[in-house]
Amino acid sequence: MSHKVTRIDLKCSSPGTSRFLTVHKFIGAAAGPKIYLQAALHADEWPGLLALQHLLPALIELDNRGQLLGEIILVPYANPIGMDQKINGVVLGRQSFSAEGNFNRHWPDLSAVVAQLLSSNEAATVSEIKQALREAVQQLPTQTPLKHLKATLLSLSIDADIVLDLHCDSQALLHLYSNFRHVKQAETLAKHLRIPVLLLEDEPGVTPFDAAHILPWLTVAEKINHSCFSATVELRGFADVNDEFAAQDARGLLSYLSSQGLIAGELYPVEPFAVSSTELTAVDAVMAPCTGIICWQVALGEAVVKGQLIAEIVDLTAANPVAGRTAVYSKTSGVLFAMGMAKLVTVGENVAKIAGTEKFDRKAGEQLLSL
Ligand SMILES: [Zn+2]
Repeated sequence: MSHKVTRIDLKCSSPGTSRFLTVHKFIGAAAGPKIYLQAALHADEWPGLLALQHLLPALIELDNRGQLLGEIILVPYANPIGMDQKINGVVLGRQSFSAEGNFNRHWPDLSAVVAQLLSSNEAATVSEIKQALREAVQQLPTQTPLKHLKATLLSLSIDADIVLDLHCDSQALLHLYSNFRHVKQAETLAKHLRIPVLLLEDEPGVTPFDAAHILPWLTVAEKINHSCFSATVELRGFADVNDEFAAQDARGLLSYLSSQGLIAGELYPVEPFAVSSTELTAVDAVMAPCTGIICWQVALGEAVVKGQLIAEIVDLTAANPVAGRTAVYSKTSGVLFAMGMAKLVTVGENVAKIAGTEKFDRKAGEQLLSL
């Protein structure tokens, strides 16, 4: 039995209040990889919160039976700051109220730490690099509650071999953001979690949480045969929080952990599952051409063809309501895997995502990153 639950106090912005993280740690009976899982970094994305609550009892049971290997760190709620940002009964979790931006952007890039170590010691080992990363995290700025939260989460995750950051979209199929270097690992994860849409890119320029774990190893990829597989898992949409989905996702995570050598002697049968890989540049980020009420002509998950009518937007200012409808067409052929929840949409707003095959001309960092 190795299971330990730790409370880590966080800085708080309001007198008379306190905040803390709950951290579950399992140390396996034998050596193996280290995996880190967290949910709801964007504090209003809740499917992962329940999925991890379903996963924990299974991990505790496996731990009691001595069947866990390696190390598992599980943070069941990653962002108590964002979860507290409630107005009129709605948690506004994506952006920090402290004007420090999107919670999943601009995480520290510790590439220079690794590059410097390798330049002074060409024979540095993987464990020495991990140690350097752990030490670098201890030096990160912690002046604000959010900076302190970021440094605290990284102190738990930076030396992991696998990092899974559980998010969700508005209304969506299961989908996964990963990168071209880790396509095999991403396909394996997608098969276990039955994720039909795998989105691949080079590193985004905005350093989300997943990239903070990939970039340090990328710098020394030619010298060190090791990397961290770090991915953002989108567990459907905001409203897809129920025991049935959570149990399915927890089973998928268990099966994935087993495939990665973190569970001994337990078989989790994996049924064949088709995963479709799409370059992020080939995703049609459908924009609302005008402001109005959106009337969808297709359903979530539907296969559409280029030029197909997918929605109409009703202009509420039009003198003639019939003539005041603007058609929205798909610019690619593929699967409509995400759509917005709001029915009143604003001109220029991203209202849907279609995983297609034709590349669109988008600059790095200005993709449809909603992870
Ligand atoms: Zn998110």
